[in-house]
Amino acid sequence: MIFNDSDTIVAPATAVGGALCVIRLSGKDAIAICDSIFQGRKPLNQAKTATLHYGNIMDGKEVVDDVVISLFRAPHSYTSEDTVEISAHGSRYIVNKIISLATSHGARLAEAGEFTRRAFLAGKMDLSQAEAVADIIASSSHSAHAIASTQMRGAYSGELQALREKLVKIASLLELELDFAEEDVEFADREELRHLLSIILDRVSSLSDSFSLGNALKEGVMVAIAGRPNVGKSTLLNRLAGEDRAMVSDIAGTTRDTIEITTNIDGVIYRFIDTAGLHSTDDQLEQMGIKRTEQALRKARIILWMQEAGDTESSFEGFTPTSDQTMLRIVNKIDLAGDISDDSAQECDIPTFYISAKSGKGVDTLIEEFKSLTNASAAYQGEVIVSSQRHYNALLQARAALKSALEAIDIGISGDLLSEDIRQIMYHVGTITGEITSSEILQSIFSQFCIGK
Ligand code: GDP
Repeated sequence: MIFNDSDTIVAPATAVGGALCVIRLSGKDAIAICDSIFQGRKPLNQAKTATLHYGNIMDGKEVVDDVVISLFRAPHSYTSEDTVEISAHGSRYIVNKIISLATSHGARLAEAGEFTRRAFLAGKMDLSQAEAVADIIASSSHSAHAIASTQMRGAYSGELQALREKLVKIASLLELELDFAEEDVEFADREELRHLLSIILDRVSSLSDSFSLGNALKEGVMVAIAGRPNVGKSTLLNRLAGEDRAMVSDIAGTTRDTIEITTNIDGVIYRFIDTAGLHSTDDQLEQMGIKRTEQALRKARIILWMQEAGDTESSFEGFTPTSDQTMLRIVNKIDLAGDISDDSAQECDIPTFYISAKSGKGVDTLIEEFKSLTNASAAYQGEVIVSSQRHYNALLQARAALKSALEAIDIGISGDLLSEDIRQIMYHVGTITGEITSSEILQSIFSQFCIGK
């Protein structure tokens, strides 16, 4: 795909239906096109950058709407091009009319994300910042917003830039060595190289390790509630959600399918999944539910293994959590049990919480545990947390290349082979910032944006 960035583009930047809407134009003819449909006190082509203009949008002699225009001249605009934003009344008719007037005077409808793509191509932001713009728009919680905001403001780009500078230093030392290959000298002190690479590896590792939290905060922390039928899973889900969403009944196997409820707890979105119990059954429908349970268990960050007080089952059969997952044992219906100190499975090494899903007893303590397992404070403090699968993949590849470079130093590999590893690391870091990219990658990133951004 070849981008045509010489056109002037137009798109609504707000959803129709509000009191006002904003229609955005960007490109070399943005001001001229606007002048041909706008009547204000003076022509826009005489206006300075970052100015507001009140007037009417005209369709010939007919007034379409009275509007306020914000005008930004290149390069002092979001896209770096001449940009005009028309604030009109938010009627679908008005929006469509203004856009069709603009296109009839030479503008073209913008593609999804085209304004931001232009900003990226003009060097106003790097690719990770451009992606953060989409994340900001999609963010539905304080923590998801905090991560995207840090990334959009360039903290992540700054980190990667610092890593890049170190890599460039290593690469140039090695280049120098190659220039004098015949003289068999080592300009690049191998100990210094090892030290620099170790620093970079530490940072790349901690960035890639942050993805587990970043992804959970961005997509919602998945909590699967599993256990035998009738232990009270649906009741707990309803209590956590504060509304009766899951069907509660005392007929075993009522919850045949997985039911998901999304709740915001202290700025973090949790996705609680009430699963069909894990048990063997001949019922085909229930078998399907159990399959979904297994899928939910694999994806969950927190797994609640729920039992009834007095249940002697001492292990959670059929599933072993990974190192990224936390399993908590929930002993429910303590309101019915006289004494929980005789809990037969007490000695198991899984943290146990005693609750009554019905009365709510102990549920607050459980929620406190969720909060400490998903500590979002780093996000609020502006720490860089990786939340994009694309970045995570690139970091993993950079990490592999870093390890290979360190091994190469250990076994005394020559400078030219070492250079190749360094180029690989720079390549993978460069794909995150967009220094290295292809039109296909850009197309796939920006097509996920909304129109008008
Ligand atoms: P699920 O099959 O695991 O989803 O279980 P349900 O949530 O449908 O609950 C099964 C039955 O146990 C229902 O009659 C609930 O009212 C009851 N129940 C759930 N939690 C409690 C509790 O904490 N105390 C008591 N006494 N009953 C409960």
